[in-house]
Amino acid sequence: MQSICVYCGSRVGCGDGYGQAARQLGRALADQGLELVYGGAAIGMMGLIADEVLAAGGAVTGVIPEALKQKEVAHAGLTELLVTADMHERKRLMAERADAFIAMPGGLGTLEELFEILTWGQLRFHEKPIGLLNTSGYYDDLVRFLDGTVTESFVHPRHRAMLTVDATPEGLLERLWV
Ligand code: AMP
Repeated sequence: MQSICVYCGSRVGCGDGYGQAARQLGRALADQGLELVYGGAAIGMMGLIADEVLAAGGAVTGVIPEALKQKEVAHAGLTELLVTADMHERKRLMAERADAFIAMPGGLGTLEELFEILTWGQLRFHEKPIGLLNTSGYYDDLVRFLDGTVTESFVHPRHRAMLTVDATPEGLLERLWV
């Protein structure tokens, strides 16, 4: 395990809790010598986690589509910034570069990225661990819904089991390794 792809919000959400969790995860990655692979932006949760990894002496690779470089304000201080032609190439590169995936609290983009990587796992395109950081119970309803997809026989239990959920960055990292 050498690099972790983190999907997270281009905003920081309400209160300080989500931003704190982004910094906490960034610090934990750097402490464990894990490279961060993410969307390359300097804003929101994305900017906070990248700044924290860099401040702790870790490596960060950002992957951003040309069209979003201005809008999402590409981070200028990354170890490596890859600029892609489009969103599909961005997501493919992020997936290729990572040994595991973590989704933190975020919006529609984060949800799309999480579900894409889950479905790629379901199709056996990869067998890399996938974690959901459920900071402040942000994803409680989603986790309940996912459990319901199994109860209602739309999702196989082993595909639901691909997603490891934990409330803390340290707890999630530890469980992803097992
Ligand atoms: P959000 O969670 O919506 O704040 O977005 C987080 C990241 O997901 C940002 O880097 C967005 O560029 C990205 N994103 C937004 N929409 C999509 C989408 N349809 N597919 C994949 N990524 C997206």
